[in-house]
Amino acid sequence: MYIRCLDGYYFAAARTALQNQHMNEPWTRDQLLVVFNLYCRIPFSKTKANNPLVIEVARQIGRSAAAVAMKLGNFGSFDSALRAKGIKGLSGASRADRAIWEEFNQDWAKLSIESGLAADRFPGSSLALPPERDVASRPVDGYLAKCADIVSGPSETAREVKVRLHQRFFREAVLASYGDSCCVCSNPVPQLLMAAHIVPWAEREDLRVNPRNGLCLCSLHHDAFDNGLWAIDDTYQIKLSSALRAYLPSRILEVNFVEFSCAQIRMPDKFWPEKEFLAFHRSNLFRE
Ligand SMILES: [Zn+2]
Repeated sequence: MYIRCLDGYYFAAARTALQNQHMNEPWTRDQLLVVFNLYCRIPFSKTKANNPLVIEVARQIGRSAAAVAMKLGNFGSFDSALRAKGIKGLSGASRADRAIWEEFNQDWAKLSIESGLAADRFPGSSLALPPERDVASRPVDGYLAKCADIVSGPSETAREVKVRLHQRFFREAVLASYGDSCCVCSNPVPQLLMAAHIVPWAEREDLRVNPRNGLCLCSLHHDAFDNGLWAIDDTYQIKLSSALRAYLPSRILEVNFVEFSCAQIRMPDKFWPEKEFLAFHRSNLFRE
């Protein structure tokens, strides 16, 4: 029995999963948390059973890679960005899958901590990170390893570690969704890429870790966005501010900004930016 995968390929996930010795055991909350964390941190096109990261996570949580890939597909079935692209997730998502999805779509900060703690509870676990995205985010040694003691306390260290885990999760989720390149100019250099907040970090604590409040931008487009020199309209088109246009004509501005004016940003493969957040940015930061 073959199942149509989300990006159009075919694979024998169902058959392999049936051979999985754990197939009949219900998924635990910890297993679901770890796989949901993985869903957030890798591009959707890489949620396949042959992805080394999927294989490694499967090994750590005691499931087959095919079963983990199917679970990633189940989470994809809830994602409105994928549905908007006409991609249907795998059917067969369980009530537990949906419960995890809904729980953490309400509280991304909680997910970034709880999934780390869940991974910590698997023996010998140290959930690997995609190396190419790890350049500017090495704040927490071992990331998911042995952090339970640190984050459970009220100390300054605990608070710092939590903030760094939040920042790391946000960066991972946003960069993965945009395929590790600027959604304006497609700059792919990891050292120059930022997970930018649409509603500023200081403005809404509840949105700091929400990947739908993020854009993957290069340093230049990030600074310009934070300073209201450009914005994104309701159709995801780039609008330049009069403050920036005041410096035209300028060859460098032509190349870096005018070229992209009125074009749509490159949309992420999941976690589309929330229109409400983009409207906030236009109303409060954009120097129209
Ligand atoms: Zn850029």
